[in-house]
Amino acid sequence: LHGLLLYCRPGFERECAQEIADRCGEAGHLVEVSAEPNSGWVEAQAEGGTLWALTRILRWQDLCFARQLLFSGRTVEGMAPGDRVTPLVEAARELCDGYADFLVETPDTDDAKSLSSMIKKLEPHLSQALEEAGAFSDAPDAPRLHILFTATDRATVALSWPGRRSEWLNGIPRLRMPREAPSRSTLKLAEAFHTLLSEDEQERLLKPGMSAVDLGAAPGGWTWQLVSRHISVTAVDNGRMNPELLESGLVVHKREDGFRFVPRKPVDWLVCDMVEQPRRVAALAARWLTQGLCRHAVFNLKLPMKRRYDELQLCTDLIAEAMGDRKYVLRCRQLYHDREEVTCYLGDPGKAGGGGRKRKR
Ligand code: SAM
Repeated sequence: LHGLLLYCRPGFERECAQEIADRCGEAGHLVEVSAEPNSGWVEAQAEGGTLWALTRILRWQDLCFARQLLFSGRTVEGMAPGDRVTPLVEAARELCDGYADFLVETPDTDDAKSLSSMIKKLEPHLSQALEEAGAFSDAPDAPRLHILFTATDRATVALSWPGRRSEWLNGIPRLRMPREAPSRSTLKLAEAFHTLLSEDEQERLLKPGMSAVDLGAAPGGWTWQLVSRHISVTAVDNGRMNPELLESGLVVHKREDGFRFVPRKPVDWLVCDMVEQPRRVAALAARWLTQGLCRHAVFNLKLPMKRRYDELQLCTDLIAEAMGDRKYVLRCRQLYHDREEVTCYLGDPGKAGGGGRKRKR
């Protein structure tokens, strides 16, 4: 292994680098991080022994600013346009004996997008050459081979293990925009549920008949996600809500201040997308949990400031302090659909909601 390779949103390399250095440091391992601004990826170098130790410690799921977490091998440079396959297969074979499968990827930049037609043509040849070289394995824990192209003649080979990586190509979830949803930010909550909760948690914690409050709800993209799961929503916003959503019978609109609003009965979910100071939103979510006003919360923290990593750290510290001795889980992620912001889940996912309607069999 040569190093760690992380994908991130272009422009967030510094945050991604700070975070991986901190996580490795907390585990007692020093890494040397490097990143080019706006490249969409970050590298971290360490000694072989350290890297192997980190393969057992680090999980993509525990990182906020990384879209993908890989362990890299060699970077192949100066590839001839007529034969990219041979050096790539060689580098892949040096890194590991048996892969479950492979992905050819690019950073999420406009420059890199121009590589996509070359990659499409290359893939079948690579697949065949890897097969012929005996590079695939049926072992259940076999890693995935990733080939990250950063130029037509330059690519880094890397690998990932199941359970510790994002399963999406380029670390970018492909979610369909529902035609009926009132705003594109609906995809943010959809992605948050997909990536901040496991499949089992989604099934247990998002049940028909449950209740939610949506603070900063207008025009209703987040509310729509809840209503589409048959969850009733109190939508709090001075702005106008989508009229069709209000006709669903599952939405009550309150024109109130989200920071002052208190539900008459505790709800299963608080969701919050108010454009406000992140520390105010973090404190609000923690208060709803500690006061028993909700069981689970998903909230968006806007990070328009320079020191985004520090601000997020401040928010998570503030939540830790507010939660005191209570058992809780906090997961923060810069979603693909997040721009200068991150989305967080706060709650105890072991706890199912109480309001779910039992399905008749
Ligand atoms: N999540 C919404 C959706 O999917 O359609 C979009 C929300 S938009 C980014 C932010 C909303 O927060 C605005 O509609 C704004 O009116 C509302 N907002 C900001 N401050 C608020 C406050 N103190 N109380 C209630 N709503 C607030």
